[in-house]
Amino acid sequence: MSNESLANLLKEDRRFAPPAELAANANVTAAAYEQAAADRLGFWAEQAKRLSWETAPTETLDWSNAPFAKWFADGKLNVAYNCVDRHVENGLGDRVAIHFEGETGDSRSLTYADLQREVSKAANALIELGVRTGDRVAVYMPMIPETVIAMLACARLGAPHSVVFGGFSADALATRIQDADARVVITADGGYRRGKPSALKPAVDEALTKPGTENVRNVLVVRRTGQEDVAWTEGRDVWWHEVVERQSDRHTPEAFDAEHPLFILYTSGTTGKPKGILHTTGGYLTQVAYTHHAVFDLKPETDVFWCTADVGWVTGHSYIAYGPLANGATEVLYEGTPDTPHQGRWWEIVQKYGVTILYTAPTAIRACMKWGDDIPAKFDLSSLRVLGSVGEPINPEAWMWYRKHIGADAAPIVDTWWQTETGAMMLSPLPGVTTTKPGSAQVPLPGIAATVVDDDAHEVPDGAGGYLVLTEPWPSMLRTIWGDDQRYLDTYWSRFEGKYFAGDGAKKDEDGDIWLLGRVDDVMLVSGHNISTTEVESALVSHPKVAEAAVVGATDPQTTQAICAFVILRGTASADDEGLVAELRAHVAQQLGPIAKPKRIMPVAELPKTRSGKIMRRLLRDVAENRDLGDVSTLTDSSVMDLIQAKLPGAASED
Ligand code: ATP
Ligand code: MG
Repeated sequence: MSNESLANLLKEDRRFAPPAELAANANVTAAAYEQAAADRLGFWAEQAKRLSWETAPTETLDWSNAPFAKWFADGKLNVAYNCVDRHVENGLGDRVAIHFEGETGDSRSLTYADLQREVSKAANALIELGVRTGDRVAVYMPMIPETVIAMLACARLGAPHSVVFGGFSADALATRIQDADARVVITADGGYRRGKPSALKPAVDEALTKPGTENVRNVLVVRRTGQEDVAWTEGRDVWWHEVVERQSDRHTPEAFDAEHPLFILYTSGTTGKPKGILHTTGGYLTQVAYTHHAVFDLKPETDVFWCTADVGWVTGHSYIAYGPLANGATEVLYEGTPDTPHQGRWWEIVQKYGVTILYTAPTAIRACMKWGDDIPAKFDLSSLRVLGSVGEPINPEAWMWYRKHIGADAAPIVDTWWQTETGAMMLSPLPGVTTTKPGSAQVPLPGIAATVVDDDAHEVPDGAGGYLVLTEPWPSMLRTIWGDDQRYLDTYWSRFEGKYFAGDGAKKDEDGDIWLLGRVDDVMLVSGHNISTTEVESALVSHPKVAEAAVVGATDPQTTQAICAFVILRGTASADDEGLVAELRAHVAQQLGPIAKPKRIMPVAELPKTRSGKIMRRLLRDVAENRDLGDVSTLTDSSVMDLIQAKLPGAASED
């Protein structure tokens, strides 16, 4: 893609310096970059001191068996103690840890002292159920406090958890239980979704009829919805309120090696079969705590943090369960969807709790744009001071909308690039330091080494594009793919010698700032030109009638690939408007050049998305090339694909 196109998206007037007051009081200043550059390992050793170690580490990194890393290997600590008990011991027992907001309007707040009691009881219950250090526990839950309590109870016992998103099917759950060989499943009767109880337990029952799940001894069930028809397997199923509630609320945590496994988490599956990513203890907690402190400028005494992600994906692990609690933060946990019972629900929650830091995903921001500016305008959002984005490249248009309508044109936006594999944020502006550019994740965080390389692993000059790579190990890196070291080597370490290949395309602008361009697999080749799906999507979204866009390259006899765009129109635009397709094609040509003009544009009602809100382009490619669909198990709603396929014959096409 030409450099003019990027320059087009990056207008000079769209640069935002940090607010003076925030910069003056920022947790982290530009000095952190210098300090980390001068002594990277020393920098991380320093950050590890944010944690309470039972045995402080003397080693920082052991890379002798690269790429299998050991961080802080001779240190010992307990993650749950770090996230809960130590705050109580420090006199913060009365601070609210979690403000829980149920979808149906019920709410409760748990202090750190409450959390200590609840986690201790849950840990004692797991012990009674025979859970031992090293046993895997599957967690298949709605977004309720017991989910975080269950994760912390597992961490407390050194029993790695495998959280499976509560919306996944019985099959998806079964394959994850099999792969991790889980011994216990923690679930609920159901959760609330769009105002209605949505059952979870039946999927567990079904999953446990599948071969390979026989080692599950117990299913621990939280009563959330009170549905009456919960099937029960005597001897296997136990109610949380019967087993956990009667336990002692005291439990003494044991310290584990820094490299003890903390959790397995399967990736969201946008590029293929999900991978069981293994994270360990000391390095992971160090980097999530540091990044939560640095990137959000967290002031635990006064801030109210809210990460809207589901706990079933990595953002929920690192920035709901572990980072905020390690830092003694007060956070919001919301059970439901942003539009239940009305499209202002999120903003109502921000107003109710005085949320100061909001962390969400581009897909949610685009949905809010589609619903209209007047909705957030009805609420008092003046408490917000830092806004975060994660999950996909954020379109400059969505970034600007987020800043203007949510951040009152003042709150800095931190666009954080990272992956399930990286465990914690890797690239991001710092809110008190970086002059931000809409749509760019910009720079590696202090202590992180990342760059963009070409096919031959050479670093590209400023102004050029290629592959994003990480050139040095980092504390919260995955240690392997569970049970499959070879796949770990092949997937991440074989493309470029000695470098971690993230699978994402990126480019450096003239200042050397990094712009993510989407998956390498998604980059299109059109008449000899590499064109990024992300850039074409951003150009489409910058048109006032387009709310969302997904672009794929479909095999084409003349041009190698032809650009096919699927668009969701904004409220007022009509899909039958004959001129609209031509108008959108002209708009893209004007923004990016004629070569980027989509060959076909298809207005659709919905796009196929994973549970974490990412668009699954590989399925759209299957549609565009008339193939059978690949793995759809991680899709939010597989009927979306039927709708899109049904539309195809009549879809607009021009040359
Ligand atoms: P799979 O690896 O199974 O295909 P996935 O990559 O979608 O699934 P995640 O680990 O949840 O699963 O997502 C990480 C990916 O999300 C990154 O590799 C990148 O493509 C994208 N991503 C996350 N944050 C950003 C961001 N701020 N800007 C651009 N892309 C981002
Ligand atoms: Mg991935």
